[in-house]
Amino acid sequence: MWKLSKKDFQKFVTAMIGSDQQVVGVQAKGDRFAFGPLEQSEDLRLDYDVTLLPPKKYVLPQVETLMTYKIGGDYQSEMASEKLILLGVHPYDLIAINQMDKLFSQDQYDNHYMARRKNITMIACDVVTPSQNVFASSMGTAVVTEGYDILITEIGDGYVLDAATDKGKALMKLAPDATEASQDDLAKRKAVQDKNRTQLNKHPLECKPSYLPKLLERAYDHPIWEEKARTCYSCGSCNTTCPTCYCFDVQDDVNWDLATGKRWRAWDGCLLENFATVAGNHNFRKQRESRFRHRLYRKAKYIPEKIGGEIACVGCGRCITACIPDIANPVAIYNALLEDIGME
Ligand code: SF4
Ligand code: SF4
Repeated sequence: MWKLSKKDFQKFVTAMIGSDQQVVGVQAKGDRFAFGPLEQSEDLRLDYDVTLLPPKKYVLPQVETLMTYKIGGDYQSEMASEKLILLGVHPYDLIAINQMDKLFSQDQYDNHYMARRKNITMIACDVVTPSQNVFASSMGTAVVTEGYDILITEIGDGYVLDAATDKGKALMKLAPDATEASQDDLAKRKAVQDKNRTQLNKHPLECKPSYLPKLLERAYDHPIWEEKARTCYSCGSCNTTCPTCYCFDVQDDVNWDLATGKRWRAWDGCLLENFATVAGNHNFRKQRESRFRHRLYRKAKYIPEKIGGEIACVGCGRCITACIPDIANPVAIYNALLEDIGME
């Protein structure tokens, strides 16, 4: 573990910006925060509460060309090759990316996603300022232990840096002023993480997350889905702002020459009205309440079945902030179900 003073950390960030890799970091956007290309170290804000959109767009862009082709002839896959340093990812957002790493590398290995992921040097940072709707402590996602190349923890007079991989250790060469962290530094780091384990909890969940699949198994026909969905606009904001939503739609565009074209994909969302429309214009999730229920079942039943029980809600709280009729809060739904049907 390394220690850098705040001044030396800024020099480290400047050196990264001057390297041959693009650096993306969290910056202020009015009174909110967003990931974007970092041009000077002074713009980096590791004290942010939450970003408007999660960093998933750097592993799964909103729109991405998958391949170009000649009709009846060759095709050429498009693979990302740009190296990227992603700087300032909060633990819950990294845990969401860790989950996507599993999902995109099992069954159908997704070369496009995995190429982007491998090109990223992931620099995570522990939360300093809790956001208004975070509940990562309830979900066990307030602290991260894997998936990062470097993890940064602010400890008052500076930062403790855990360079966990060869990539992370190589990057530390840009920080010649780093010294070995002392026992006191490590104790302060532990105190920050211990506090986050319990304090990032604006919406406490009244059961262990591991019980949620069982709870949902018993709640499929519960009236809550219809009650909540009554005011849903089907706007899809709860999907687009969610770090664990990864559904996409694939389209083909044939060029005017009718001989060449491209295949691309773009984010999709299960709350959107036509998400489940298939050939023959049949929509197998036409009712709002069935789409509303599906989102919660994806988070706490279907995805956990694919990735060893991990719940695909990391408690970032973005859906709560984004939902205008205030119906998207997963904890409000789980707690209401717990109150009504109890635990078995
Ligand atoms: S469901 Fe909501 S709180 Fe959970 S990870 Fe997605 S956006 Fe965050
Ligand atoms: S953000 Fe709210 S209104 Fe929009 S689709 Fe999601 S639940 Fe419905």
